[in-house]
Amino acid sequence: MIKFDHIKVVYGDFVAIPDFNLDVHEGEFFTFLGPSGCGKSTALRTLAGFITPSSGTVAIDGKNVTHAHPSKRGIGMVFQNYALFPSMNVRDNIEFGLKMAKLPKGEISERATRAARQVSLTDEQLGKQISELSGGQQQRVAIARALVMEPSILLLDEPLSNLDARLRKQLRIQLKDIQSEVGITTVYVTHDQEEALSMSDRIAVLDEGRIEQVGTPRELYEESATEFVCTFLGQVNGLSEAQIAELNNQGARLSPSHTHYIRPERLTIQPAEAQSSAGSALRLPATVVSESYLGDHSVLEVNALGAPLRVNVSGPIPQNIAGREVTLLLEDSSINSFDADGRRVAK
Ligand code: ATP
Repeated sequence: MIKFDHIKVVYGDFVAIPDFNLDVHEGEFFTFLGPSGCGKSTALRTLAGFITPSSGTVAIDGKNVTHAHPSKRGIGMVFQNYALFPSMNVRDNIEFGLKMAKLPKGEISERATRAARQVSLTDEQLGKQISELSGGQQQRVAIARALVMEPSILLLDEPLSNLDARLRKQLRIQLKDIQSEVGITTVYVTHDQEEALSMSDRIAVLDEGRIEQVGTPRELYEESATEFVCTFLGQVNGLSEAQIAELNNQGARLSPSHTHYIRPERLTIQPAEAQSSAGSALRLPATVVSESYLGDHSVLEVNALGAPLRVNVSGPIPQNIAGREVTLLLEDSSINSFDADGRRVAK
């Protein structure tokens, strides 16, 4: 339904996006994720029509919109700062676009009420001034104002980034619920990986204007196609040369010319005196250096073969574990390996 075909975007002589190719499907919640400056907003703004690419085409529903005005693309956009009109009340904000389009009064009122319901704004809230609303409520007004125009695509550019951490968590669930209920194709921009993983059907991870990988949250996290994606998402331990050599002594087959990573939640520890079980895990002698207790899990730093590794433990652990000798268990299949070009090496 949305197709980027060999899109190139330049700012002066800087190539922000060299060659962007992507399909976003009907009804999908699709996210552009990546570090600051990777080109997320540029890609979104090209889709919205605020930027004209120097080559390539953007198509929506099979129609080439590369040179179409933003208002002619059937998109609704929610900005980081919401861009609401502070001097108008909530209903007037939502009705604004419909009034501009000179629709009949009855229809304007009916559609605004419906859009407000879709985002769970109450009748009482419709009469309030924007300044009387919380950040989360303002965000819903911004979404209602976009939905009331009945766009075929909703674009959201870091819509949660002005809110405090707790509210962000609440709102990402609400936002995802609104999207599923309305069923509208949504393209979302964020640099927050937790937000992207928890909300998206699929994600494109970008780096320097290039798509590193497109996939479901699970595919990206568990089967990262590139070293960049693996290290950008979540936490990783990079294995040192000595650790690689020792693991190979124990039967692992890790190429010394590749880089190898393991996620902290894929490591487990046992008391040093525990008998080796019949499982396939590799066993490394380790010392616990420090422990951070975080309630629902603990983070241990352990020293194994002269290099620190982070271990996330979800269950209870003995108190005062720092300083103890332990055995670190590691499954060969949990190691992510990448070649010199940063591409995943198949096991
Ligand atoms: P952020 O998360 O910081 O908003 P982003 O991933 O959205 O970053 P873009 O804003 O798309 O990144 O920028 C991509 C690259 O293009 C960056 O290197 C940025 O400095 C550059 N850039 C963006 N807008 C312009 C502009 N108007 N003129 C020149 N360079 C620009």
